[in-house]
Amino acid sequence: MGKKERPLVIAGNWKMNKTVAEARKLAQELVEGADIIQASTAVLCPPFLTLETVAKTIESTAYRLGAQNVYWENAGAYTGEVSPPMLRAVGCQYVIVGHSERRQYFGETDASVNRRIKAAQDSGLIPIACVGETLQEREAGKTRDVIKRQITGVLEGLSAEAVEALIIAYEPVWAIGTGMTAEPEDTDEVHAYIRDLVQEKYSPEVARSLTILYGGSVNDQNAQSLLSMRNIDGALIGGASLKAPSFLQILKTAESLMA
Ligand code: PEP
Repeated sequence: MGKKERPLVIAGNWKMNKTVAEARKLAQELVEGADIIQASTAVLCPPFLTLETVAKTIESTAYRLGAQNVYWENAGAYTGEVSPPMLRAVGCQYVIVGHSERRQYFGETDASVNRRIKAAQDSGLIPIACVGETLQEREAGKTRDVIKRQITGVLEGLSAEAVEALIIAYEPVWAIGTGMTAEPEDTDEVHAYIRDLVQEKYSPEVARSLTILYGGSVNDQNAQSLLSMRNIDGALIGGASLKAPSFLQILKTAESLMA
């Protein structure tokens, strides 16, 4: 597996972009390049409304489907929410939880992210749980404190098996959608710190097997230097996942690091 200890996961977060027709077109363009995917895992996370269309378009390819959020109840009077079994039924294998935009605009907390992780796993979904500090917190030298609080909160009550079966995405809030990327070395250090926290709470084996993605203005230019870092096991990509050529180029970079 080349220089990488763990298989790379490249996930595209389309956020609130693409109508059904536009999503079909982007998925079709991505499918044209699907042969690239060999050793890495490529996950597409389009908006809820387009999941079914994207699921059909990527059927029989190596792409996997993910959603951008999920509620923690399976069914009932929760107007506007989407449940884990609904996501499974449409073909989702992954779900992003606790994205910083959910935390910032929709009141998401570590406790609610924790509930979503548990419910998602109960239905067989792989959560991609996001953590990350704001610029203010970083400048105040609080990155580690914030990461520790978030990791402790989102993993509360999870067994070692549950932690091994999820993905963490470290996304410094100041780097999301801003074009500002964290330095690969600084990012690697935070990833190593997350691994240390998991080792303390669980075991060296759980820490070693944990997949930790980086997110924050990843593009086809900076992917190589970020994905080469020892503790970076992939990327959660917003803007650059909306254009097939750039997402495919990042997948190519990931594959070259695993060859
Ligand atoms: C994201 O949406 O998770 C993200 C990292 O966005 P961007 O790549 O646009 O910074």
